[in-house]
Amino acid sequence: MLPALFVSHGSPALIGEDIPGRDFLAGLGRELGRPAAIVVATAHWETDRPSFSTAAKPETIHDFYGFPEQLYRLRYPAPGAPALAERAVAALAQAGIGASVDPERGFDHGVWSPLLLMYPEADIPVVSLSVQPRRTPADHIAVGRALAPLRNDNVLVMGSGGAVHNLGALVRGDHGGAPDWATAFDDWLAKAFAEGDAASLAEYRGLAPFARVAHPRDEHLMPAFVAFGAGGPTAKGRLLHRSFAHGSISMAAYAVE
Ligand code: ZN
Repeated sequence: MLPALFVSHGSPALIGEDIPGRDFLAGLGRELGRPAAIVVATAHWETDRPSFSTAAKPETIHDFYGFPEQLYRLRYPAPGAPALAERAVAALAQAGIGASVDPERGFDHGVWSPLLLMYPEADIPVVSLSVQPRRTPADHIAVGRALAPLRNDNVLVMGSGGAVHNLGALVRGDHGGAPDWATAFDDWLAKAFAEGDAASLAEYRGLAPFARVAHPRDEHLMPAFVAFGAGGPTAKGRLLHRSFAHGSISMAAYAVE
């Protein structure tokens, strides 16, 4: 059975960047093996309640501005998986969580940027899942928990966001040493994942060092909570990769099982 997965997707330009975080993702698909389908909780889709994409042929969304022209020509033509999306809605309902489907939603770069590196053939069906910035980390862990049984059917349940993500503090093009606050938060998160400490993760804003600097808003961390939950009730998170890009942007990734 595949682990649940959290990846940091970095900049929209990741695919063309010569950085360790990109190289890691480019090898990750081979390392994990091929899932039957993928459900991706993405930081770039925010809704009031969990929503799953049901388009049979989702479009590639270029949801960023001011980046090199060639990025806007990239497509990720993977099929959708409407039946799997409906199954996911039912799994959440069973856990008492109301969810909806969106037949229009395409793949934002939180979905396609890492998947283009991991599974470049784009032949594995993909369902996008939104995050809820007005809900708590515990709510997102609960969403992941409800999706954990999908892993029994070789579905890769993953979150795509950023372990440290403060766009006001990044230094474009600087991939050298990260500031202390960024490494302190990254370390705290790695420890909480390694210990399977759901209680601390749920209270990270009060417990983690520099939480408000690392995540002025927490939409980029919410996919990590979904992934953590999808590991199951006794899951621990194994750090698969750690590096920083553009100064303080963590590229940390975890397998949770
Ligand atoms: Zn992002």
